[in-house]
Amino acid sequence: MTQTKSLTILGATGSVGLATLDVVAEANERARAAGQPKAFEVVALTAHQDWQGLAEQAKATGARFVALGDPRHGDKLRAALSGQAVEIGLGPEALIDAAALPSDVVMAAIVGAAGLAPALAAARRGAQIALANKECLVCAGALFLKAVADGGGTILPVDSEHNAIFQVLDRSDRVEKLILTASGGPFRTWTAEAIAAATPEQAVAHPNWSMGQKISVDSATLMNKGLELIEAALLFGMPEHQIDVLVHPQSVIHSLVAYQDGSVLAQLGAADMRIPIAHALAWPARLITSSPRLDLAAIGKLDFEPPDLQRFPALTLARTALAKGGSAPTILNAANEMAVQAFLDRNVGFPEIAAIVSETMEEACRLGMDAALGDLDDVYAADQASRAIAVRQIGKRNFVSA
Ligand code: NAD
Ligand code: MG
Repeated sequence: MTQTKSLTILGATGSVGLATLDVVAEANERARAAGQPKAFEVVALTAHQDWQGLAEQAKATGARFVALGDPRHGDKLRAALSGQAVEIGLGPEALIDAAALPSDVVMAAIVGAAGLAPALAAARRGAQIALANKECLVCAGALFLKAVADGGGTILPVDSEHNAIFQVLDRSDRVEKLILTASGGPFRTWTAEAIAAATPEQAVAHPNWSMGQKISVDSATLMNKGLELIEAALLFGMPEHQIDVLVHPQSVIHSLVAYQDGSVLAQLGAADMRIPIAHALAWPARLITSSPRLDLAAIGKLDFEPPDLQRFPALTLARTALAKGGSAPTILNAANEMAVQAFLDRNVGFPEIAAIVSETMEEACRLGMDAALGDLDDVYAADQASRAIAVRQIGKRNFVSA
């Protein structure tokens, strides 16, 4: 890369946000050492509540604008940044302002459907969107893709599986299958009885990746793979029956594409999010990074197994939602966000997550909510109504934490 790219990071204080700033710092240091212009210029950063982290990042990067979604910490953020040449925005609208500021690339790394409105603002102005926030795509579906296309921008997948597929997908129309790999999560070898008693601490302890709480729980239920199935269908225009899930506990192969001539192409690498992030930020060029190198001789062997749909019913729920289409994925995502939070708050047990999603989907269908999504108002309406149903489902369960 010889020209400086300007960059906005939505969700800068999270796991993906921090990894992004790491990639940016290394690329800029390498450019400085080589006497070249900066690789990346940070324009804007956002966070939800972590005003301290955001203030430090603003100082370290020289960002021109920072937005804090939760306005209650605004005074503290202002005090921490007094004397700095940085504009401060507060509240959900400020996240949209941050995304709307001109920049070449926007890293969409907010967690959940809360990231949809800012990501749409970036899409509408034609930014290159490095997309980590899979929930915003699952929630808005084709309408999100249309906003990107209408704005004249592109999506660069950051989710490691989709980034892998993006890297090995050729331009032919001879793709037989996309094969998403899954680590299987922390409960891959647990019995159904043990899983039923799993605590939030056990669920967030992922064997291979260090991630935010919500995606860690999603990895434990396999709903993460379910959301990724929907994400892959949207990003690569593939029908549900042409996307397979393969459990691969070592997380070395990040996904595969099988072609109709019998060839199967895969992308491999260390389980380090800085690799797909670096790819998405630099595309179509590549960066030099110090991410760990893959040592296949040391790893010795790679294992594969089919997912167990009995112990991990979330995957089937996501397949059903994808096959149904319309607002079914929106309902699935909203119910899952609520159920995961209830589990983290110890209001429901681990198996209740999939049960709440399932019952919310059924009730929403009975109420005729699973219609086509005509516009973004339909998305927000389905999201809100599903959350209300999920709250009732959560309330019906009298889980008492140990
Ligand atoms: P995280 O919880 O570590 O960070 C989330 C970020 O979003 C934080 O900056 C937080 O301040 C912000 N945020 C949270 N709630 C918000 C709200 N209501 N409004 C505005 N901002 C809010 O999450 P993460 O692990 O970095 O994941 C971010 C996204 O990337 C998720 O969609 C996740 O599925 C996806 N993803 C993450 C990884 C990973 O390795 N962590 C890998 C692939 C995809
Ligand atoms: Mg992933």
